[in-house]
Amino acid sequence: MGVPFVDLKRQYREIKQEILAAVEGVFDSTQFVLGKEVAAFEGEFASYCGVRHGVAVNTGTSALHLALLAAGIGPGDEVITVPLTFVATAAAIGYTGAKAVFVDVDPATYTMDPGAIEAAITPRTKAILPVHLYGQAADMDPIVAIARRHGLFVIEDAAQAHGAGYKGRRCGSIGDLGCFSFYPGKNLGAYGEGGLVTTDNADFARKIRILRDWGAETKYQHVVKGFNYRMEGVQGAILRVKLRYLEAWTEARRMNAAAYRKLLGDCGICLPVERAGNRHVYHVFAVLTPQRAEFMESLAERGVQTGIHYPIPVHLLPAYSELNHRPGDFPVAERIASEEVSLPMFPELADAEIEEVAQAVLEFQNVYQY
Ligand SMILES: *Cc1c(COP(=O)(O)O)cnc(C)c1O
Repeated sequence: MGVPFVDLKRQYREIKQEILAAVEGVFDSTQFVLGKEVAAFEGEFASYCGVRHGVAVNTGTSALHLALLAAGIGPGDEVITVPLTFVATAAAIGYTGAKAVFVDVDPATYTMDPGAIEAAITPRTKAILPVHLYGQAADMDPIVAIARRHGLFVIEDAAQAHGAGYKGRRCGSIGDLGCFSFYPGKNLGAYGEGGLVTTDNADFARKIRILRDWGAETKYQHVVKGFNYRMEGVQGAILRVKLRYLEAWTEARRMNAAAYRKLLGDCGICLPVERAGNRHVYHVFAVLTPQRAEFMESLAERGVQTGIHYPIPVHLLPAYSELNHRPGDFPVAERIASEEVSLPMFPELADAEIEEVAQAVLEFQNVYQY
């Protein structure tokens, strides 16, 4: 018995023949970097998101970096984001020379609190970068309205939100630019690294295409200082195969979340809230408990693996000490960081495994609830 936090082998077994055929096609073509499979994937993923342009890159971090550069962000600028995220969000802002300015998150949905944004805007602010954390869309309407009022760009960190919905629109299609990661553990994962920028803006798309390939408009015509951020051909081919399954896998994640809710609804643990109008895609099934260490240890004793996303909010990480933040600056993010536990969540999770996880949670809650 026991339940893994995530098991990528199960999915690979289901699609192995298609994947190997796709990889063989790339090898036969020798289009190892970019090439027609990557180009086809860009178009397919853009239309899946409901945008005109998709530009594939080598990682989600590169997607964020180039989206920020395309929006003209650089040294001396400020970008408003959240401290409750993977470090890459803040790192990408830093790569441009701009400063990450944090605002706290909403206590119900753990995404950017729109009510906190305006107080953080200064004459240097150039963009707002909300994160669709755990697979749930940030509250985009007020965020976009504030951005329009102040002449700011909106860049979505959709690295955890492939296919996530907000009032009928897909994440990555709501702001000026959307940034995705295809790291293997993400909802749409490559067999290696990958990323992509979505946008309706042809000029942004053109700039990002140039920047990802050494700043060259055509071979050896380097019009700007660029990067080697190109996607590999095999990743494009693999992602094309996997994109065809994404909706079914997302529905499976949502069914698993519904099963957890049914089994854990009354046990006193704090379950994720799905905001009305949102389609949460449960990259992470996050619960909160004030007794996190004991909770995780108790589940581990029963063979149930869990994770933490993320134990230290970015503003308190040693790497960002230059920002001079202290505990208490973003109390909601800090509380979530101290109480969050991620339960096993992946499309292939069996009903019996969900029951096993729930049983372990219920046993713990019976002992610790009071
Ligand atoms: C995974 C992730 C990234 C970075 O993506 P990589 O492909 O690992 O570079 C950025 N932001 C968030 C919120 C992520 O979860």
